[in-house]
Formats: sequence, structure tokens, C-alpha cells
Amino acid sequence: MILIFLGPPGSGKGTQAKLLSSEKNWPQLSTGDMLRANISQGTNLGLEAKKFMDQGALVPDEVVIGMIDKRIQEADCKPGFILDGFPRTVPQAEALYALLKKHGCKLDHVILFQIQSNELVKRLSGRRTCTKCGEMYHIESRPTKVEGVCDKCGGSVIQRPDDDQAVIGKRLDVYEKQTAPLVDYYSKLGLLREMNAMDEVKNVTRSIASIVT
Ligand code: AMP
Repeated sequence: MILIFLGPPGSGKGTQAKLLSSEKNWPQLSTGDMLRANISQGTNLGLEAKKFMDQGALVPDEVVIGMIDKRIQEADCKPGFILDGFPRTVPQAEALYALLKKHGCKLDHVILFQIQSNELVKRLSGRRTCTKCGEMYHIESRPTKVEGVCDKCGGSVIQRPDDDQAVIGKRLDVYEKQTAPLVDYYSKLGLLREMNAMDEVKNVTRSIASIVT
């Protein structure tokens, strides 16, 4: 089963990908997480990517395509995987098609997380993330038990630099201009499944389950 979770930042893709991944054992392939791991390890790729990420811009296509190409060849991807935050541009979608073809597989569904932009700003500006395990919190709807400390792993919980109010607008703009054209792209291929991402987490989970079973 090969899935794409498509939607603007803050629409709940990561949350749902984690839930589905632990239920089905399909790894969550988040290019954002991979890039952040490179940043914390201080790799050259990370240093280069950080310049784009801190400004809310997209990292160049060839960088993320190379990461995905490598990752999908790992053994745990054999039963299937969930792409979270990739592809984000039409050239990335075309490259993905070619990669999957090369490995003899194909996409099953593209799940579109639909949500209003005022809700996105509320979610992103209050979002806090664990630097160690990636668990996500929200200052109002899901605070940590101890401020700044992850309930799950004890890691430090911070506001991602790109969740800063000043960068959020830019990221949403980038989504509209560079990623939203993928809605049409996958719709024409008959792969798009629309989802109300304003709904409660458990209801979104249920709707996704009904698509992937
Ligand atoms: P995310 O965690 O998915 O919100 O991604 C955080 C940031 O990483 C984005 O704002 C981009 O700068 C970068 N990024 C993640 N995935 C991609 C991608 N597929 N293409 C280009 N840049 C990406």
C-alpha cells in the first residue's frame, strides 16, 4: 500500500500518518522529519536545507527526491509506506512516478486533507514539537504535562523555527502556489480521496481507515 498524505502545513498529516503507521506497520516517510534529522546531526545537507526551511521556502526538488529514492529502497518499506509532506511540487510528483515505476510499484491513494486557512494559523502558531521523538503538542488543545518536556520520551519540546508567526504566512503561500497544483494532478489520475481535516482526530482516522482497507 503506497499512500500520499497531501495538504497544507498544520492540516494533521503528520498526526494521522503516525497513527496509521503504528497500526499497519507502514513507515511514515516525512521529508520534513528527515531534513530536521539532518539539521540536528549537522550534515551538509542539513545545513543547506536549513536556509530554505527557516524562511518557509521549499528545499530544492533534487534534495528531497534523492532522500526519498534512498529511503523507499529500505526493507521496512516493502509492505508499503506513507508519504507525508512529499511530493510538494509537480516535478517531485513526476519524479515519484518514475521512481515507483523503476521499483515495480505504484501509488494506491492520495489523501487530501482539506482545512480552512484561519484554522491552520491557529494550529501552527500554537504547535510545539519534541526535538527528540517528533511528538506534537498544542499550547491550548494538547499541552505537555510539564512545560517544555515531552510526555512520551522526556525530550525537549520547542516551537519549530518555521512555526513562528512570521514564517507561517509564507509557508501557506508556498503551499498554494507550489503544492496545491498537485490536487488537480492527482485528481486527473483518479487517485485523489478528499478528507475533512477540520473534523476530530478520531473521525479523520476512521475515514482514512475506510479508504485504505
Ligand atoms: P514539514 O515538516 O513537512 O512541514 O516540512 C518543513 C519544511 O521542510 C518545509 O517548509 C520545507 O522547507 C521542507 N520540506 C519538507 N518536505 C519538503 C519537500 N517535499 N520539498 C521541499 N521542501 C520540503
